[in-house]
Amino acid sequence: MLLNHLTDRLKIKKMREIHSHERQQFETLFKQEQIDRFHDRFRILEVFLQTEKHVTSHELVSILKDRNIDFPHEFVEETLELMFRFGFAQKNRFDNGIVHYEHRHLGQHHDHMICTKCGKILEFKNDPLEQLQARVVAGFGFHMLQHWMEIYGLCSDCMKSREKIMPLMSARQGERVIIKDLVGGSQARMRLLSMGLRIGDILEVITNNGQGQLVVAADYQRYVLGRGMSQKIIVGPADEEEKI
Ligand SMILES: [Zn+2]
Ligand SMILES: [Zn+2]
Ligand SMILES: [Zn+2]
Repeated sequence: MLLNHLTDRLKIKKMREIHSHERQQFETLFKQEQIDRFHDRFRILEVFLQTEKHVTSHELVSILKDRNIDFPHEFVEETLELMFRFGFAQKNRFDNGIVHYEHRHLGQHHDHMICTKCGKILEFKNDPLEQLQARVVAGFGFHMLQHWMEIYGLCSDCMKSREKIMPLMSARQGERVIIKDLVGGSQARMRLLSMGLRIGDILEVITNNGQGQLVVAADYQRYVLGRGMSQKIIVGPADEEEKI
């Protein structure tokens, strides 16, 4: 407990040192490159360094507003882009295509887990995994310079509140589900049967972007389902079924 506390304090101290170093470099580089409005941009950097997470340019604008710093979105975005260009910020697009910025500390690398339900972004670094990646690509005669690993799935909070039963429409992309029931009477049942699907079949959700048709796979076959039909098919998580 005490040790944990101690290492936390050391981490904070180390972070502070890194950040003050970043500030000095920022000043040197931006002045050297004669970037305009240095002081305004420096205030953006200060707030950005205090945010230990992945932010969009719009999120940073509102974080700045909370601290009574009112800059137009274009200026904030331009500053973030400059920070990216000079290696102070890292840009990630993740699944939804929206650009997220985070600190880029030299010599430090991490990878990401992204929850497709709540959008939470978790960071991790695993040294054996890092080394394994380098070894695997070396087997192809390939020399790794950079990589970004993004693992999509459900975070522990979302797993806890995961529905045991839901319409297929609510299943996430990549999820494996089992058909539990059908609502909508015999007509719906006939439709499903005519497609070759039955209660108890395991489906993998190939695409479900929240609108339009869904594509699912069962037994190496793809099925395209309309929103209406996917509302009537009741499913549950397949992994729980398979564990038994
Ligand atoms: Zn990595
Ligand atoms: Zn989540
Ligand atoms: Zn990150």
